[in-house]
Amino acid sequence: MGILDGKTVLVAGVTIDSSIGFAAAKAAQEQGATVLISNFGRALNITRRIAGRLPSPAPVLECDVTDAGQLAGLADAVREHADHLDGLVHAIAFANPETALGGKFLNTGWEDVATAMHVSTYSYQALTMAVRPLLSRGSSVVGLTFDASVAWPGYDWMGVAKAGLESCNRYLARDLGPHGVRVNLVSAGPLNTMAAKAIPGFEKFEQVWADRAPLGWDNTGYDTAGKAVVALLSDLFPATTGEIVHVDGGFHAMGA
Ligand code: NAP
Repeated sequence: MGILDGKTVLVAGVTIDSSIGFAAAKAAQEQGATVLISNFGRALNITRRIAGRLPSPAPVLECDVTDAGQLAGLADAVREHADHLDGLVHAIAFANPETALGGKFLNTGWEDVATAMHVSTYSYQALTMAVRPLLSRGSSVVGLTFDASVAWPGYDWMGVAKAGLESCNRYLARDLGPHGVRVNLVSAGPLNTMAAKAIPGFEKFEQVWADRAPLGWDNTGYDTAGKAVVALLSDLFPATTGEIVHVDGGFHAMGA
């Protein structure tokens, strides 16, 4: 008996088995969900292979969140496998590491900022609305953030994009709440994923976390984030929306 028994969930943003999306998909299946996963472009073949490492087979859909045509076709692509969605997981982010990350904040041009915002912020609304016809009362949308309430070394425009994502989470919660759809974020501590490795200096966070997180921190603990996503997808948080749940070993609550 799992907390997602009978539910169908789309997890967007699964590339390899260190992706937080993979951990969420795995945890969702372990809790009884039927899971679909998506990714985009050249990495799709990697995603198809990685899907074989999930406990159960999962259809792999293509969705580039910056491609209006693919977004428009996403609900029909899901309908080939399921007639509704109880859950949507947005595990997607991108900013150009050469220009928008790693200490170049003061010199980043609009084009690179726009890309970061498009993929990492606006796509939360765009992806949710792409599958909106499949969501109904009781459905749950969950995204991933990295605490955007402060400035971090090297995180730069991704930090700004995450601040926007956290705001987007509240507005989606406001507008979908009356339809019974919950929208929440998991704020994860630093995890050694492909996206994290692309951030120059990200490894420095790991020592800070090791020193300060009262529960300690394992930067390969992808499952901790995946399990929290599943908890928010489940019926165990029926009155929670617009929330940011920290899965960071308690780091955010410590002053020093
Ligand atoms: P990841 O494995 O690299 O996942 C990021 C995913 O976004 C990849 O599957 C990537 O696909 C996808 N993506 C990028 N551009 C896209 C586009 N235009 N359309 C569709 N998908 C696109 O890294 P991750 O760390 O698990 O990231 C998942 C989420 O967790 C992100 O929102 C990230 O900011 C957040 N997060 C991460 C950490 C951390 O420390 N790792 C902490 C807190 C929050 P490709 O691989 O094919 O480019």
